[in-house]
Amino acid sequence: LIQLAIPLNFIGFVYREIRQGLTDIEKMFDLLDVEAEVVDSPDAKELVIDRGAIAFKDVHFAYDPARPILKGISFEVPAGKTVAVVGPSGAGKSTLSRLLYRFYDVQQGAITIDGQDVRDVKQQSLRAVIGMVPQDTVLFNDTIAYNIRYGRISATQAEIEAAADIAQIGEFIESLPEGYGAMVGERGLKLSGGEKQRVAIARTVLKSPPILILDEATSALDTRTEQEIQAALDIVSQNRTTLVIAHRLSTVIHADEIIVLKDGGIAERGTHGELIERGGLYASMWNRQREATQAEEMLKKVRESD
Ligand code: ADP
Ligand code: MG
Repeated sequence: LIQLAIPLNFIGFVYREIRQGLTDIEKMFDLLDVEAEVVDSPDAKELVIDRGAIAFKDVHFAYDPARPILKGISFEVPAGKTVAVVGPSGAGKSTLSRLLYRFYDVQQGAITIDGQDVRDVKQQSLRAVIGMVPQDTVLFNDTIAYNIRYGRISATQAEIEAAADIAQIGEFIESLPEGYGAMVGERGLKLSGGEKQRVAIARTVLKSPPILILDEATSALDTRTEQEIQAALDIVSQNRTTLVIAHRLSTVIHADEIIVLKDGGIAERGTHGELIERGGLYASMWNRQREATQAEEMLKKVRESD
């Protein structure tokens, strides 16, 4: 029943949004379009999840054949571990997460979860085990409670509030005049990037999936918001297989492995310590970000002393 409830709910939501003349309608169609691009094979099986080990094996992918994005990427995320992917903007980091979620199919190579090729399993069973906190969370034009409950339709109000607390957004919601009943989205309360991301985290906490994909927001979050989000993500990713796409390197220090993506390949890989020692691309990215953070902090001090 739950398996059915989610797609039906989704269709209902899309219908409602279209009827109400959602301003974000293009985004909505994009989403539907993407969903239609891959179909279950006739003999697709249910994904049998053991501990959620992920493997990318010689993955090749291009949106446009003339411009390859991934040119033979291989790495594993062992069950329960955290692997971070970093690299310049446009390197293909988010593409990796879309391929794992099977919004698109690889053109060569394979992606497996617990040894099963994602192309051989029912999409519904694949997506049921993955929690995705995307770079830009699109909120539904509904209450904030509805937006969190979307992670698990059967969740109680108490469970929703507990998830919001873990995602460090509970206090904020309670401070709103209408609390959990406050309308959000295009025609409701406009939430900041960080707030939207915390709603997405709360949703994922409710879903409680064995596999997590976190695509961190690029938008400059202030240091405090970033720390709050990080604290929430640390709790959620504990003991779950986690693929984190990181823009702020301060969030990947504790990753079990860091993959540096560049020009369609893996330029470097290792732990934070190993990569710093190596003095290559990661080390220079690290130094640049540290300088930027220090400058930001100095500026803040100057402003505060005024
Ligand atoms: P990253 O997350 O590392 O910044 P992405 O994986 O989002 O990079 O994108 C990799 C490249 O693919 C970029 O050059 C981007 O412009 C391109 N790209 C992303 N999505 C699409 C799409 N739907 N159609 C065509 N090109 C795309
Ligand atoms: Mg990205």
